[in-house]
Amino acid sequence: MTVTENATPAYPPGELPAMDVAGRLDRLRGALDGAGVDGLVVSDLTNVRYLTGFTGSAGMLLVDAHRTVFVTDGRYTTQSAQQLGDAGVQAEIEISAEGPEVAVAAAAAGLGRLGLEADSVSWGSQLRWAGELFEGELVPTTGVVEELRLVKDAGEAARIRSACALADAALEEVRGRLADGPTEREFARELEAAMMRRGADDLSFDTIVASGPNGARPHHHPSDRRVAEGDLVVLDFGALLDGYHSDMTRAVAVGDVGPDRRRMLRVVAEAQAAGVEAVRAGVEAAEVDRACRELIAEAGWGEAFLHGTGHGVGLDIHEAPRVSNRSTATLGAGHVVTVEPGVYLPELGGVRIEDTVLVTDSGCDRLTLAPKEPQLG
Ligand code: ZN
Ligand code: ZN
Repeated sequence: MTVTENATPAYPPGELPAMDVAGRLDRLRGALDGAGVDGLVVSDLTNVRYLTGFTGSAGMLLVDAHRTVFVTDGRYTTQSAQQLGDAGVQAEIEISAEGPEVAVAAAAAGLGRLGLEADSVSWGSQLRWAGELFEGELVPTTGVVEELRLVKDAGEAARIRSACALADAALEEVRGRLADGPTEREFARELEAAMMRRGADDLSFDTIVASGPNGARPHHHPSDRRVAEGDLVVLDFGALLDGYHSDMTRAVAVGDVGPDRRRMLRVVAEAQAAGVEAVRAGVEAAEVDRACRELIAEAGWGEAFLHGTGHGVGLDIHEAPRVSNRSTATLGAGHVVTVEPGVYLPELGGVRIEDTVLVTDSGCDRLTLAPKEPQLG
């Protein structure tokens, strides 16, 4: 399969290509029948953002066959009008002081079957919907908007590509300082500052710097341990750009790490390359996991690969599709996923290598381009 690497530099802020936000609501309308509902209440804020461009912290949508009703509170009167307008979204905007559910429920009155997003509605809220807010039939739905989010449009892919390029450049800038023996925490802050200087809006997630024995814990939090000669250091980090995430991991060898750790680096690098090679539209996500896992198992470390191979990346750092041996997903063109096998051994430390890739019909376009040669210097 074809793995392409497009070295297009990051887009400067303000020059990112436009996204077709308004078209997403039409696609959602087309999915309502399949979900068995006459209308859907979108309460997950990331889904609200996806469908409307609204980035505030309080907003809820009702989407039915003919209408889009967006409800927020008085803090967002100006922002909501501006963002929905900029996105070309045709919606009735309501400002409610009683909480968005009451206004959304009033707009939904008369619908027969009303979908709620089961993954974002609390038990208390569901009781309220059923007890006071809605008289028709409530339908728990899962993944209706998330399904639309799987395929990234050109504007979304450009944002993720830029976020990846920004993280690559930040690592290139500060990587050499690992030789100076910083603490994990100090190095994490340097890496983060380098991303922010380059225009990241925020971090994608809490940076992982895991050195020496700490590397055996996949989600280690940076500590005051100093990076030392002979360490493997796992660096897992990402940049947020206009709402979109990047995610990458590199393992760096500081000085002479010895034959066992070198073998870990080689095996994980080969497994990761095999996983990336396996990515193509039409391939089952579990197949990509298998491609990585086989090589690690052959090396005798099957039990030390403690997690799935990857996950989707977009407006959320972890989103569909999941890339694991239990995944039932099939990859499609426009999906963005990570490939991140790892080996974790308490006596030696850890190695994980992770790229974010854009799935294409013929293979994938690698968005993380930082070199993988682990040796420092
Ligand atoms: Zn990661
Ligand atoms: Zn990841």
